[in-house]
Amino acid sequence: MKTKNNITLKEVLKSLNWSTTLYLVLSPIAAIVILYYYSVHQLFQWQTLALTFFMWLASGMAITVGYHRYFSHRSFKTNKFFEYLFVLFGSSALQMSVIEWAFDHRNHHRFTDSEKDPYSIKRGFWHAHIIWLFFERGTRLGTKPEIDYNKISDLWKDPFIRFQHKFYTPVAIFMAFIFPGLIALSWGDFWGGVLIAGIVRSVIVHHATFCINSVCHSLGKKPYSLEESARDSWITALLTYGEGYHNFHHKFPGDYRNAILPWQYDPSKWFIWTLSKLGLAWDLHRIPEERILQAKAEVLEQRIKLNQLTLKEKAILNAKEQFEKAIHQMSELRKQYKKSYDNAKNILKEKQKELINAYKNYERTVIQYAKQNKLNLQN
Ligand SMILES: [Zn+2]
Ligand SMILES: [Zn+2]
Repeated sequence: MKTKNNITLKEVLKSLNWSTTLYLVLSPIAAIVILYYYSVHQLFQWQTLALTFFMWLASGMAITVGYHRYFSHRSFKTNKFFEYLFVLFGSSALQMSVIEWAFDHRNHHRFTDSEKDPYSIKRGFWHAHIIWLFFERGTRLGTKPEIDYNKISDLWKDPFIRFQHKFYTPVAIFMAFIFPGLIALSWGDFWGGVLIAGIVRSVIVHHATFCINSVCHSLGKKPYSLEESARDSWITALLTYGEGYHNFHHKFPGDYRNAILPWQYDPSKWFIWTLSKLGLAWDLHRIPEERILQAKAEVLEQRIKLNQLTLKEKAILNAKEQFEKAIHQMSELRKQYKKSYDNAKNILKEKQKELINAYKNYERTVIQYAKQNKLNLQN
């Protein structure tokens, strides 16, 4: 049997990643059966439900904060303890190793909407959502290329990340099912831990993350860039721990924020910000305000042109001139601020040296005086 693209059924079956495909197809069915069974037999325990909520939050945020904003985009820095948490709870989300996830995601940004984008929306909503995961790397039907370790050398040099990549399956099975099972065992509900906080939760987290690649490229507005399919929407932000401001993210992928306005829902940003206030994260990368407004102004101009309005309208030209003047002043001030900050830092360093020398001189003089007068400074 051949399809219109000359792909045989045999080739489809050969290209399939069977374990991933079976889990992704069967787990939602299993989740529905489990929820039905637990409801009918009234087996829910509140502790297990609380654990499920915790696992949903921890595994989902380990993906958005850890796999995505930390490992894939390097948008902030943190300590080893949080790195380990991101790797371990990220494993419990059953979304491959950090290496595989970051490699595919960096390709998604580098080649957005093109043939080389592993989950390009141009191949259809369901391809971007889940189908891209069904096929093996490097096969004719797969859209993920073989891993090029040079492109993720910053991650590969970390022994714990290499360990997770090598032993991904046992680590993931332990963190996703056994770990919540063992916690729930403490109140006598091992199977509730495995089935509800494990399987049901993994299905919810899967489809929340998958929505970033499908819904976030289909639903919403494009305030920062018209070039790519990524869109901003508060609805998808609610589903995806704040990743729904995806148009901004594609325009400025290095920024630790996806939502930049204070009232927009981005718990992943709030988490990173809170860590920074506690001294547990630092070097949070933030795109300067004027570059963001410049991007918005470019989109506005493109829209004006698309609507075939002329930019020669006097009022528009005046307003544009004022905006450009403000942008220029802002970036000049930023430069001056940086210069005087650097100057102040250098002066401070010089003063510090002078201070240390002055103290050493003072100490030397006292010792010399004591020696001359045979005084004992020890007591
Ligand atoms: Zn995207
Ligand atoms: Zn990204």
